[in-house]
Amino acid sequence: MSARESIIPVFVPHWGCPYHCVFCNQRQISGAKKPASPDDVRRAVQSALALLPSGSKPQLAFYGGSFTAIPVQDQEALLTAAKEILDSGLISSIRLSTRPDAVDDAVLSRLHGFGVETVELGAQSMCDEVLALSGRGHTSADVEYASRLIKASGFRLILQMMTGLPGDSPERSIRTAEKIIALRPDGVRIYPTVIVRDTMLYDLWQTGQYTEHTVEDAVSLCARLLPMFEKASIPVIRLGLNPTEELSAGGAAAGAYHPALGELVKSRMIRSEAEERLAGIVPGSRVCLFVHPKKLSQMAGQHKCNITYLQEKFALSGLAVCSDPALSEQEIRIKTDRQ
Ligand code: SF4
Repeated sequence: MSARESIIPVFVPHWGCPYHCVFCNQRQISGAKKPASPDDVRRAVQSALALLPSGSKPQLAFYGGSFTAIPVQDQEALLTAAKEILDSGLISSIRLSTRPDAVDDAVLSRLHGFGVETVELGAQSMCDEVLALSGRGHTSADVEYASRLIKASGFRLILQMMTGLPGDSPERSIRTAEKIIALRPDGVRIYPTVIVRDTMLYDLWQTGQYTEHTVEDAVSLCARLLPMFEKASIPVIRLGLNPTEELSAGGAAAGAYHPALGELVKSRMIRSEAEERLAGIVPGSRVCLFVHPKKLSQMAGQHKCNITYLQEKFALSGLAVCSDPALSEQEIRIKTDRQ
C-alpha cells in the first residue's frame, strides 16, 4: 500500500462465519460490538474523510469476519452502499477479507459487479495439522485454490498468516511463508498469535494444553520471515494485531501482543546484520556502529537492548550507535579502535 492510501475499516465481526477458530474473538480483536449496516458504512466514510489529509486515497475495507460467507442479501446491501460511495468518487477502492473456503466463481463475479478491487484471505498456516488444531475448518489446498482463483479473476490478493498457532513451530511457519510466496500475493499480513480472553485458545492455555507464543518468540521468528518476503518483493503490510482499547485493557491475556511489534522485528533484523558484521572483532574493542539517521533507534533497540546484547556477545569494552546521513538505510559502517 502506498503512503497516500488510507484504510477506512468497517467491521463485520464473525458475521456469517460458520467456524470457531480457537484464537478468534472478533469482537475483542476488532473492537466492534455488532456487524455494520449500510448506514454504518456511509457514516464510517463520512467521519473518516473529515480526518484524512488532502490527497489521500481512501479505501473502504470490510474486515473482521468472512465477508463472502455473510447471507448474500446482507453482502449486497453493504456492497451497494460501498459502490455508491465508490461511484461518487469519495473513495478510491473497496477491499474485504474472507475465508479461503468461501470463495468461488459466483462469489468473485458478485464482488466484481460491486467494484471490489482487493480480496484478503485468512490463510493463517499452510500446514494442515496446524489448521485442524486451530479449528480453521479449511485446508491448505483451499488456500491455494482460492488464491489462484482470486488472482486469475483480476483481483489484488492479500494473504494473512499467523505464527505460534497450536501445533505450529518456527520451521512450519517458514514453510508456510515459502508456500505463500509461491502463490505470489500482492501483499501479506503476519499476525503472531495473541491469547485473547473468551476464546478456546485461552482455555487451552489455562489448562496447559497450549504454550504461549511470546513477544520474544514472535520477534525472533518474524525477523526470519520478513527478509523472505522482502527478497521475494512481496510487501508485508502489517505485522501484529492492531492495538485496540479492549485488548490493551486486558483482553489480550498473553501471547505476542505488543503495540510496536513491527518495530521490534526490524530492530532484531538490524541487530542480526550487525552481528554478522562484528564476527571476528577483537574482544575488548571499542566500536561505533554507523547507520542512516532513520535507523538509529532500531539499531540501538528498545531500552538500548541491542547495544547491551552486542556488547556482551562480543565482549566489547564500549559500543556506540552513531548517525551517518551518507549511508543508505540498508548499510552499517563499523569503526573500531583495534583492527
Ligand atoms: S474464520 Fe475468521 S471470523 Fe471465523 S472464527 Fe475464524 S478468525 Fe473468526
